[in-house]
Amino acid sequence: MVPFVDLKAQYQSIKPEFDAAVMKTLENCAFVLGPEVAAFEQRFAAYCDNEFGVGVNCGTNALFLSLLAAGIGEGDEVITVPHTFIATASAIHYTGAKVVFCDIDPVTFTMDPDALEAAITPRTKAILPVHLYGQMADMDPIMAIAKKHGLIVIEDAAQSHGAEYRGRRAGSIGDLAGFSFYPGKNLGAAGEAGIAVTANADWNRKLRMLRDWGAEEKYHHEIIGYNMRMEGLQGAVLDVKMNHLEKWTGGRRAAAARYNALFAGSGVQVPVELDDRRHVYHVYAIRTPDRQRWIDELKDAGVATGIHYPFPLHRLKAFDFLGYREGEFPHAEKAAAEVLSLPMFAEITLEQQEIVADAVLRLQSETEITA
Ligand SMILES: *Cc1c(COP(=O)(O)O)cnc(C)c1O
Repeated sequence: MVPFVDLKAQYQSIKPEFDAAVMKTLENCAFVLGPEVAAFEQRFAAYCDNEFGVGVNCGTNALFLSLLAAGIGEGDEVITVPHTFIATASAIHYTGAKVVFCDIDPVTFTMDPDALEAAITPRTKAILPVHLYGQMADMDPIMAIAKKHGLIVIEDAAQSHGAEYRGRRAGSIGDLAGFSFYPGKNLGAAGEAGIAVTANADWNRKLRMLRDWGAEEKYHHEIIGYNMRMEGLQGAVLDVKMNHLEKWTGGRRAAAARYNALFAGSGVQVPVELDDRRHVYHVYAIRTPDRQRWIDELKDAGVATGIHYPFPLHRLKAFDFLGYREGEFPHAEKAAAEVLSLPMFAEITLEQQEIVADAVLRLQSETEITA
């Protein structure tokens, strides 16, 4: 079976370093925050070409606390896209603000700036573009619209560690950004973790208080905060993995290029990497209108697949109360019906990719015959 991701292959490749970092934390007993987390925060913020990094307990809370730090709450509206993981919209909802959706660009699967502008109302306070699959949203027009209307921009960079837009890193363009270190992400912890990054010293301070019971100094609680601190073990593991992130990103990009070459001229709808972006291929998603059959046949051929994501958020029962209807976001709805994620990880071999490609090419040629 060609696995969808292979976390064991990555662990085996760095086992001595990884185990030493874990043992060090067990020995110094810095289990929550501590020196390893502080070192990682600085290093990751620098990797994003940004000033401050605030380590938290998951990517969702990196977004949630970023929204809170920027003053978003009840009575406000925050615009995001329906073609994303539910965490994006949940983080907005937790603040008490209203989730407002706008459609995506059908080529990049990211926020369509024209649709964004059309969704702005007098209550809009922030924009939450998602750098989906590892490719950044069209940030220049999004930032220009934000500036024109006085809105805050928070990047959902959970899938795009090291991605670039016109030479600028994910996490360095918006006012704030949230990253996830869920184990399957491009940079993954040994459990749950996330980080918020910003260049704003006030928001940095606010984020640090919010994640740690509202206090900068122990027991001096200035606001009511949360227990959302990054664990020491995660900081230690992530710091070790930072040594390898660029190499792993290179592995993902090389794997994507090999898939593209294997599918060239076949009619398979491969992902589009725009000239002005560096895609980091968290997900390699192709499209097919005959998806369920493809999934079943690929499984029979020994190929695991994924769907990111099968339902646009406005069609989920959880968001019924927002009152959206089918047909309101046609590009997001079509993408949700057609996207199919192929095995993608830094260590994937050419042999594994050929097994995937053979099966996909066979399905594609059948599709062309019946079309
Ligand atoms: C993974 C993910 C999140 C949430 O991160 P967690 O660490 O799982 O809380 C948010 N947005 C997107 C787009 C994601 O892929």
